[in-house]
Amino acid sequence: MIKTERILHLKSFRGRKVRVVREHYLREEVPCYSAVCQAGCVNDGKVLSGELTHYVVPDASVVADYLEVLELRELQGIVFTQTAFQAVQHNKGRSRQYNRLRGLLKDPRHNCVLFANEFQEYSYCPREKGESQDKWQTKCVYSAAVWYHDHLAGLKPIVMITEDQAAVTQYSSLNAGVYVISIQDYLQNFWPDLQAAHELYSSISQALQEKGSEGTEREYAEHLPAEVLEAGIKSGRYVQGILNVNKHRAQCEAFIRIEGSTNKNTDLNSDVLVCGVKNRNRAVHGDGVVVELFPKSEWRGKTTALTEGQGEEKTGEEAQSQPMPTGRVVGILQRNWRDYVVTFPPREETQSQSRNSQRILVVPWDQCIPKIRISTQQADALQDHRVVVRIDSWESTSLYPNGHSVRVLGRAGELETEIQTILIENCIHVPPFSEAQLREMPVISPEKPWRVDPGQVVVRRDLRDTHLVFSIDPRGCEDVDDTLSVHTLPGGEVLELGVHIADVTHFVAEGSLTDLEARARATTYYLADRRYDMLPAVLSANLCSLLGGVDRYAMSVLWELDARTLAVKKVWYGRTLIRSSYQLHYELAQALLKGENAEVPELTQLGTEEKDAKLAQLTQALEMLTHVARHLRAKRDREGALELEGVEVRAQLDEEKNITALVPRQPLEIHETVAECMIYANHWVARKIQESFPQQALLRHHPPPRQEFFCQLVDSAKARGFFCSTRSNKALADSLEQAVDPQDPLVNKLLRVMATQAMSNALYFSTGACSQDQYYHYGLALDRYTHFTSPIRRYADMVVHRLLTAAINLENAAGHSKPSASNKELEEMAQHINNKNRAAQQAQRLSTELFQCLYFKDKDPQVDQCCVADAVIYAIRANGMLVFIPQYGLKGAVYLRNREGQVVTVGQDGSCEWQSGSVQRYPERISTTCSRGTSTFSLFDHITVRISVQASRYHSVSLHMEVISNKPHQNAEQQPPQLQGRSQLVQEVVRLAEEQAHDKAARGPKFSKEEREFCQSKSPNLYSLLEEVRELALIDCSKTNSM
Ligand SMILES: [Zn+2]
Repeated sequence: MIKTERILHLKSFRGRKVRVVREHYLREEVPCYSAVCQAGCVNDGKVLSGELTHYVVPDASVVADYLEVLELRELQGIVFTQTAFQAVQHNKGRSRQYNRLRGLLKDPRHNCVLFANEFQEYSYCPREKGESQDKWQTKCVYSAAVWYHDHLAGLKPIVMITEDQAAVTQYSSLNAGVYVISIQDYLQNFWPDLQAAHELYSSISQALQEKGSEGTEREYAEHLPAEVLEAGIKSGRYVQGILNVNKHRAQCEAFIRIEGSTNKNTDLNSDVLVCGVKNRNRAVHGDGVVVELFPKSEWRGKTTALTEGQGEEKTGEEAQSQPMPTGRVVGILQRNWRDYVVTFPPREETQSQSRNSQRILVVPWDQCIPKIRISTQQADALQDHRVVVRIDSWESTSLYPNGHSVRVLGRAGELETEIQTILIENCIHVPPFSEAQLREMPVISPEKPWRVDPGQVVVRRDLRDTHLVFSIDPRGCEDVDDTLSVHTLPGGEVLELGVHIADVTHFVAEGSLTDLEARARATTYYLADRRYDMLPAVLSANLCSLLGGVDRYAMSVLWELDARTLAVKKVWYGRTLIRSSYQLHYELAQALLKGENAEVPELTQLGTEEKDAKLAQLTQALEMLTHVARHLRAKRDREGALELEGVEVRAQLDEEKNITALVPRQPLEIHETVAECMIYANHWVARKIQESFPQQALLRHHPPPRQEFFCQLVDSAKARGFFCSTRSNKALADSLEQAVDPQDPLVNKLLRVMATQAMSNALYFSTGACSQDQYYHYGLALDRYTHFTSPIRRYADMVVHRLLTAAINLENAAGHSKPSASNKELEEMAQHINNKNRAAQQAQRLSTELFQCLYFKDKDPQVDQCCVADAVIYAIRANGMLVFIPQYGLKGAVYLRNREGQVVTVGQDGSCEWQSGSVQRYPERISTTCSRGTSTFSLFDHITVRISVQASRYHSVSLHMEVISNKPHQNAEQQPPQLQGRSQLVQEVVRLAEEQAHDKAARGPKFSKEEREFCQSKSPNLYSLLEEVRELALIDCSKTNSM
């Protein structure tokens, strides 16, 4: 090791320049992290692949300015030098780049490494007197590039990229095998076909060029320095929180959601209102901000009237417009900028905008986000396209934030563009599984099928010959992740119930690329017409699918129950080997239970006698299962389980999910039987892991709802003469059971929807992060609950499988038995999964709405009978009402007053027309008055509405509903059943989109066929819906509007 001195020029606290001399140690052994190392480096962790054609060494300014290009997955073999890394780290305005760079280096999916060049004896070069920092950094990076070339004995060409033309001239011919070129040359020569990189490069370089030409006039107040903000928060002068823009009034209304414990301001228990963009002071929706409150005399109220395009509002939050804490943003603690989808303004506008520069104001799809100024020469070519952009900065001298474009999604309005928009807007990244990920998967083919490993037979409990195992799923289900068994043990005193779940974590090692990808996705995403799997198909549809007649690995829970009382005598958890005998679907299982004549496919080949014997055995097992499940259900009921279950979930599905009507109206008992067994398994696994790891187990709780959210439910029930008690889950369930209008089944259904919307979300958490009284699951009435039964499509279940394995090892004292994640890490994981689940639901809801709009897009509302439908009023607002259209499962706003001040009036025959007048609102009805008289609309009234599509250049298309009669729609009786209407809706839209895609195949980027098959399947999401019903987990409802 060599000691040397290093001179640093630092700035003192008071701004004086200080020269510091530091001891600097140089070593010979600094790992190169290359697979083709010739010198025997100790290369732990990530290693540069030996198969690449070259390695890339970017200099400091390339890393700082063009990191996004280097982030592209296609660019591999990147060596980040310590010099470049520190240059980004120490640049104050670049903390976001620094975080991204660290994330990139940590991400094993990206082939790049960090080289400590300044500690390497032969690559280090001291800074010479008078040498500028930039020049010195470039020299260091070049020296590192040369070192790599020599160290790898010339086996790999090294390409240094720099934007410094002088460096290109100076270094490019010094060493053979070390190339020094500009980033543009690099992309053109090495990645001529990587369009994304070229576009990104030109958009960033343009943004950099324009950066110098900022105006100087101040548009906003300066943000206060961090110390002042911190002191202000401590003293209670300021409050901190997350900025939430009201998307219906994005220009004028935003709220700060207060983060409780951090604020000393005790009399503040509501959100803080921020009016207007000046007071918002450059904060963007989602940013962590600090606000200063105005004196009480300046407080204002929020708006309660309906506005165009407004759909759902959280029940109970429709407080009257009383003044609330109001303030202005004085500083920003954390920018939470993400990728935004934008649309270019029409040509006329861009021409007037860009007279002096290439700058264009683009409009984000998300109405909460301000317009973004980007520099581009493609404004013309990108007319009518949707483009992804990122915000770079927002100076106080700039009315709008500055940003740059990242990539083009395609033409607005086309199905694929709109679906991609939904994914990006919800931060859902589902690229096809990479080759490296797929290489981790077992290789199977018809010639070389997968076989049980003899080593596994030894360590697993073999149930293949001892247990009759079967699955019950929706018809046509491909990924079977749970199976059941039940039988009486010899002696007849004890029943043994078994739940056997696919052993996914056997195939997916913790920390492997597949594991990291699954963790990043956190769930399988179900959209209206497709799904994006969490795991590669070889696992989800094959090795981890517990299909009939094949050997499979499982994680099992086996209960020994007293045959008479069904009390639990013993529980066994462990890894097993199973072979499912029957792959039943619900209808078949139900038919067998009823003793109906049903054909079991597995038995068709057998002779009558054998067939009858087997059939009797299977039927007996199903009967026993039903008996046990009824008992379990009754036990939970006594303990206060919410009786909403299937019914409640079904109503929720009607509102939030697509193809809801596929769920049978009268669920078969077998659904509940299977669901009850899964709940039981989840509950017992939760107990096991919580007892083994009281501080670090992943559970799922469902907090009791806040009473004020029940206002709408209670008032609406009252309007119909029902009393609704919300005192406890049991009381609520009983009330809902009673609240049935024999004339109109929709009344009960809508009340259940309201109850569901008042619920909190069920959420994952780490046991160390909550006190034990917060573990409770309100909906299921269980003291502990988790997710264990669907590891193929939920990452939480994979975490739980690993925890259960650790708990079993702990018991057997076998090997290492500690869970690998600490409480803090597990809590972070829980938050991540919760966020992804919310995004998944949001994306599903948006895709459903997209399909609904596409369905109506080409229909003429004045002529087409499809556009006229029966609607029922379920909420009253200041200038209109919210309605539900059963035929299409649609919800929306119907206005009774328009912008011209006209109101809807009803004639003798019920038909409606607009006249000038006034609106009067009551709790359970709303009236309009004009010269013609008074017209009233009440809760639960059936009316007739006309549905039309409201086009939007920039945002998602939406549906507009207009009341045309206060009477029920005449054809209401003859409507086709919901099932047909909804699934046909999706099918028809898909067919039209495919036809269009065919017509203009040449236009814009389209998914290749492989990509489609690789990562998505077009099956309807019936499977997921039924799974939800089975779990009875209360579905998290969207809270985007809960202001
Ligand atoms: Zn080496």
